Amino acid sequence: MRNIFRIAYDCYIQNCRNPTWNTKDLALISHYLPYQELLKKLTKLSGQDYDTVLDQFAELLGSDIKESFGVKYNQTVVRTKKNEYTLYINSGDFLGFESEIDMIITRHFTTDTHKLNIIWNQTPPVQFLVEKNYTLKFFNEIGERAFVSRNERMVSLFPNTRTSTISHEIGHVLGLPDQYYPAWDQTTCEYKYYTDFANFMSANSSGVMLPRHWELLDETYRVQKN
Ligand SMILES: [Zn+2]
Repeated sequence: MRNIFRIAYDCYIQNCRNPTWNTKDLALISHYLPYQELLKKLTKLSGQDYDTVLDQFAELLGSDIKESFGVKYNQTVVRTKKNEYTLYINSGDFLGFESEIDMIITRHFTTDTHKLNIIWNQTPPVQFLVEKNYTLKFFNEIGERAFVSRNERMVSLFPNTRTSTISHEIGHVLGLPDQYYPAWDQTTCEYKYYTDFANFMSANSSGVMLPRHWELLDETYRVQKN
C-alpha cells in the first residue's frame, strides 16, 4: 500500500502542484484523521495559522478535504422520519446477497432510538435529484482494506473484509468520519493509533453505533417529506 501520508507531506514541503492521487488515495485522504494531525504539524512548522495551511493543503489535493472532518452530507441518504433513515444501495458485485448484507447492516444500525432501512437496487425518489446511488464492489485482492469512494459512489470490499467492516463502511456512506486517533510517539518516531473500542467508526470489530453518531446525523439531515 502506498504511504499517502508520506506523499502528502513531501508534496506539501516541495510545494508540488499536481500530485497524482488514485481513487483509493483520495478515499483515504477524505476519511483519514492523520491528515488533521499532519495539518497541525504543518501549521507549527510554517508558522501560519491553521486555516491558511488547510486552504493550501486542500488546493494541493484538489479534494474536498475541508469537509472531511465532520459528517459529510450525502444526498443519497434519506431521513424518512425523525428517527428513521433510508439508504438506497446498488448491490453491484453482491447481487443475490442483498438479504444477507441487509441483515448485517440493519442489525448494526437498529438501536434503541433509531433505525436504518436499506432499499436495494433502486435510485432514490426523483425529488432528491440523485442520479446514482452507492454501489457495492468486490475486488479480488488480498491484503487491501475496504474503503468508500465518494467521487465514484462506490463501497469497495475485499476477500478479507469482515462483516463488521461492512457496517463501518456504511457509516462512511452515511457521512461519518473515521474516529481513531493518531498521536506521534517520540520513542518509536511513528504514529500510533488510539482507538475507542466502543465506537464502530474507531474500532469496527468491537464498536457499535453510538447515540452521538445519530446526533451528528440528525444535525446533518432533515426529515424529508414525501
Ligand atoms: Zn473507515
